[in-house]
Amino acid sequence: MNQQELIKKISHKFQLADRNPSGMSASGSLSGEKIFSKHSPINGERLADIEVANKDAYNKLIEEAQQAYVIWSAMPAPQRGEIIRQIGEAFREDKEDLGALISIETGKLLQEGLGEAQEIIDICDFAVGLSRQLYGLTMHSERPDHRMYEQYHPLGVIGIISAFNFPAAVWSWNAIIAAVCGNVSIWKPSEKAPLSAIACQYIVSKVLKKNNLPSGIFTLYHGGAEQGSWLAEDERIALVSATGSVAMGKKVNQVVAGRLGKVLLELGGNNAIIVTENANIEMAVRAIIFGAVGTAGQRCTTTRRLIVHETIYNAIVEKLKHLYGQLVVGNPLEKGVLVGPLIDNSAVELYEQRIKIALAEGAVLLAGGKRLKPVGLDGGTYVMPTLLEAQPSLPSLQEETFAPILYVSKYSGSVDVAIQLNNNVRQGLSSAIFTNDMQQMERFLSNRGSDCGIANVNIGTSGAEIGGAFGGEKETGGGRESGSDSWKAYMRRQTNTINYGATLPLAQGIKFDL
Ligand code: NAD
Repeated sequence: MNQQELIKKISHKFQLADRNPSGMSASGSLSGEKIFSKHSPINGERLADIEVANKDAYNKLIEEAQQAYVIWSAMPAPQRGEIIRQIGEAFREDKEDLGALISIETGKLLQEGLGEAQEIIDICDFAVGLSRQLYGLTMHSERPDHRMYEQYHPLGVIGIISAFNFPAAVWSWNAIIAAVCGNVSIWKPSEKAPLSAIACQYIVSKVLKKNNLPSGIFTLYHGGAEQGSWLAEDERIALVSATGSVAMGKKVNQVVAGRLGKVLLELGGNNAIIVTENANIEMAVRAIIFGAVGTAGQRCTTTRRLIVHETIYNAIVEKLKHLYGQLVVGNPLEKGVLVGPLIDNSAVELYEQRIKIALAEGAVLLAGGKRLKPVGLDGGTYVMPTLLEAQPSLPSLQEETFAPILYVSKYSGSVDVAIQLNNNVRQGLSSAIFTNDMQQMERFLSNRGSDCGIANVNIGTSGAEIGGAFGGEKETGGGRESGSDSWKAYMRRQTNTINYGATLPLAQGIKFDL
């Protein structure tokens, strides 16, 4: 099936409204005033025209969400879990088409698009289990005939702002976990990836309708920074979960803090792999390649810096140069292709600018460095994965450029030197070490080790499982989403003390006799 046939099939499947004669077109969930076009990064083809929400439509959605909250939050959590189970089943049925849509819309490999759809299914399964495990603690009271415990209640309406590079999975981390906790959500996806959002909305809406539940439990509207900022300003939004660049997170954080609201921030990364003299080099090189060029370098966990011990530096660099020369860049829907396009032309410009700056700062080009025009893909936004040799002090090493640019640096001495280089950036999302030395490994994982939210051993920086809490420190924003006890971010904790005696003793033995 060629791309156009695939688009036609998917458009029909997700009932993407047909206002665009050239193929897939979508109106989103409400009528707005402005229109923007979404093009595929694969070949530049216009996929859809999207309506941007206006303030009236937004307000109407919030009111619907508030009404839905009354019904949804009153349902027992295991009953909500049953609805989430059905949502997971619905995503299972549509996995192939959703995966293909994610790939067409973002340019990630078809395998990765399918993986993202699978991640939503995994999150639903996880949330079903959670629906019977939203536990609080009980504690012993210091007062006789008293009982004390904590319980968790939902927050209300959750606002979700998402980035283009995970246009569906990040929504599910937030919306599905928030929902099982009893919240409803309103989603403003990236203006660079609106179609996967419409498909997700279509899938959940089917399940809500079948169960006679209000559509306001999961809501969607479109737009860019301006429309996203409405969630930050809005006192009706109990928690704003924002995924994207550090610059965006700083703005959202300030606005939400101004009204003392809650935020959950998942921002940029600048992730390094350390390869020590005791590493399995073959394994390390495979992980480096996947981490650096997978998703064309457009993951928050992409490997951007490589810190290699001087004794194995030349061996690693030679292997990488050889493999970079063999990488197939092209149509991500085709087998054998390992690197798809960047999201749009402005991303290509940022890639070109950053390489120019890094070279001017003294970096040395080892591989790549240029825009590419694969045959038959005119209009696509392709670049060559790029390898740069860099002194650890290179200013560009501080910046996250959302493209496949990997800086390789040499270190000498102990693993502590490498750890210091790993930590010497403003961001703190993911990190990894390749070593077979137990002391080096434990040092990296200790409190004097990596300062990142994710620290892996003999695994690259990207490709996290949903079961763990995902997120990072420093400018990455400190949020945790997905597995473990991340659900607590979507609930308010209440401490309850019950006196079942006939007297009124005070805490700390205070006497207050009338
Ligand atoms: P971006 O910051 O340009 O946009 C992200 C979202 O924020 C979009 O929906 C956008 O419309 C919205 N937005 C922008 N300015 C806003 C404002 N002032 N108020 C409210 N909303 C606003 O990011 P992007 O280019 O879509 O994505 C790439 C970035 O996202 C990278 O930095 C990447 O590392 C990061 N990211 C982080 C994670 C994580 O979990 N830590 C996951 C995915 C992506």
